Amino acid sequence: MSNIVAIVGRPNVGKSTLFNRLLERREAIVDSTAGVTRDRHYGKSDWNGVEFTVIDTGGYEVNTEDVFQEEISKQVQLAIDEATSIIFMLNVEEGLTDTDQEIFEMLRRSNKPTYIVVNKVDSAKEELAATEFYQLGIDKYYTLSSATGSGTGELLDDIVKDF
Ligand code: GDP
Ligand code: MG
Repeated sequence: MSNIVAIVGRPNVGKSTLFNRLLERREAIVDSTAGVTRDRHYGKSDWNGVEFTVIDTGGYEVNTEDVFQEEISKQVQLAIDEATSIIFMLNVEEGLTDTDQEIFEMLRRSNKPTYIVVNKVDSAKEELAATEFYQLGIDKYYTLSSATGSGTGELLDDIVKDF
C-alpha cells in the first residue's frame, strides 16, 4: 500500500519550499548524491520510518486570471485523484482569498483526508494573524514556517498517524 501526499494551494504560498524540505530530509538519510535536481514534482520521503510519496503541484506560469483559476482547479483535481492525503497550503502574508475558498470547496467535496496548513508563520505575530483562516469553518489548522521547518513535525506526526 502506498501513501501519497499532495501539496496544493495557490502560487507562491510555499508549496515547493515544503516539498524540497521533505525531500532533503530523506536524501540526507538515504541519498548522498550531490547536485540532485530540486525541481521535480514527485519525491520519496519518510517520517519516523514511515515512507510516503510527496507530490508538489503547480510549477506552471500564471499569465491571466482565467489560466490561473483553470490551472489551479486542474492541479487540485489531479491531487484529489492521485493522492491519499492532501496538504492544503495557505499563506498568512496574503490572508484568505476567493481562490483559497474555491480550492477548499473542491477538497471538502472530495472527502480526502485534508490537512490545512497556514504557511509563512515565522513568528508570534503571524501566529495571531493565522486565526483569520477559521473563516473557512474549520476546527483546526497547522501553522508552518516552511522556510525554517518549524511546525513540520506536528503536521507529519498527524499525517502518518492517519495512513
Ligand atoms: P509555491 O509557488 O507555492 O511553490 O511557493 P514557493 O515554495 O516557490 O515559495 C514562494 C516564496 O515564498 C519563496 O520566495 C519562498 O522563499 C517563500 N517562502 C516559502 N516558505 C516560507 C516561509 O515559511 N516563510 C517565509 N517568510 N517565506 C517563505
Ligand atoms: Mg512551486
